[in-house]
Amino acid sequence: MTQHPAAGDEAPAPGKAASDALILGALIFACSLFGIYSAPSGLLAAFWPANAVMLGVLVRRARPATPLDWFIGSAAYILADLFSGEAWLRTILLSGTNLVGIATGYLLFARMKKTDTRLLHPRSMLRFVFVVATAAAGSGVAGMVSNPLLVGGTVFDGFTFWFTTELVNYIALLPALLTMPDITRWLKDHRRRADWPSFTFNEVAPICAFGLSLWLGTQLGGPGVIPYPIPAMLWCALTYSLFTTAGITLFFCMWTLLAISSGYLSIGAAVDTQQAIMSLRVGVTLTALAPLTVASVMVARNELLERLKHAATHDYLTHVLNRNGFLIRVEALLSAPHPVRQQVAVLMLDIDHFKRVNDSYGHAAGDLVLASFARLTQECLRSSDVLGRLGGEEFAVLLPDCNRTDARLIAQRICDAFAQHSVQLDDGTVLGATVSIGVCCEAHTSAAISTMLSAADAALYKAKEQGRNRVELALPGKAAAHA
Ligand code: GH3
Ligand code: MG
Ligand code: MG
Repeated sequence: MTQHPAAGDEAPAPGKAASDALILGALIFACSLFGIYSAPSGLLAAFWPANAVMLGVLVRRARPATPLDWFIGSAAYILADLFSGEAWLRTILLSGTNLVGIATGYLLFARMKKTDTRLLHPRSMLRFVFVVATAAAGSGVAGMVSNPLLVGGTVFDGFTFWFTTELVNYIALLPALLTMPDITRWLKDHRRRADWPSFTFNEVAPICAFGLSLWLGTQLGGPGVIPYPIPAMLWCALTYSLFTTAGITLFFCMWTLLAISSGYLSIGAAVDTQQAIMSLRVGVTLTALAPLTVASVMVARNELLERLKHAATHDYLTHVLNRNGFLIRVEALLSAPHPVRQQVAVLMLDIDHFKRVNDSYGHAAGDLVLASFARLTQECLRSSDVLGRLGGEEFAVLLPDCNRTDARLIAQRICDAFAQHSVQLDDGTVLGATVSIGVCCEAHTSAAISTMLSAADAALYKAKEQGRNRVELALPGKAAAHA
């Protein structure tokens, strides 16, 4: 039983499945015509994007391919051949050989995880090469039967021709198709960012180095010229997204092969036999694997760094910032430019008699109360406010651009909301708790987080003394007294 990366998803609505299949058919038809009309006359096409496109589309779909996809895809191959004047027998042999490779690749990709089919795992490129080499071998085996009938030649020639052309097409085209961003989401993101993007030197330098190394190759020539752009492509892979790197490697493959065949790039050796052409094509495409592997490892590395950074700055239980994350965020906010007369407030919040909650209902119930308190408090705040769990049942909030009156109102809102809130346990028990809050407000210019936290803590202590479930304000200037 094969498992599509999106296995378990619901089957598409019949209308959507039909329109998806028709779009796929139109794409295959257009790509096949491109392959047929760009082929040297009388010879089979060497650059044949249709198979990589069909495989890429089927693998990228959020659901498994349907029989309709295969039927319309096959029909598109046959129609394109018939349209360009091929005889029926040749049409069936060619389309069949193409489809054997695609089906082999699809069956293997369908067994891989989505992170692998999107090349997001450090080992994804290795698995990718294994899959496309097997898919190309599938076409090669079919080519052992079809090629002698199509163009004469030996069974061995049939295998090598189909294996190498398919391998080259898949390695050059598929990475870009598999890593292409979701177009509708991409457009939405870019429409939101109305201003023109600006680029730093570090972002522009790698692509310039790539262009320069391509140009240098044309000037120097010689047998070693093909890998000249590798250092620049590795730099690109360390700097740009995986999709951009896949686009750059695709450009490298196409440009190098075109430049050599047109004589613009001289490698000092004649590329005039079928064997030499195949060797060149495979060599150039394999060169692209190094930057693609680096880009793929970079994606995994960057994601890991993000997760580490998140774990180091967030609290695992309540998902708000932890003490470290809170202090980093607050320091950054306080040192940012601000209007001269702006004020800033800090709240210290401590759940009342929390030990009793643990003692009466258990630690797990206490955890539930902590998580719901953090959620509730977050709902009482603006998106620019910063909430953090300083430890145990103690939280702190920074309210930028907030005066004493507003800070008291917000603190009271949190206090009232939590007093009215209750948490239901699995066994149906309903429990509630209250919170005490200390508030400190300062002019932004003189605000230092450590002294403000101390002043808010002193106010919190007062709130505890005066009966809990209440808000107390530090006197103006109290923060300075705690410095
Ligand atoms: P007060 O009203 O004076 O603040 O009394 P309190 O009981 O809330 O304060 P105390 O400092 O005596 O107790 C805090 C308790 O919080 C003790 C500790 O076991 C509990 N606690 C700390 N961290 C966690 C946690 O992550 N989960 C749970 N369930 N309890 C925690
Ligand atoms: Mg407490
Ligand atoms: Mg406490």
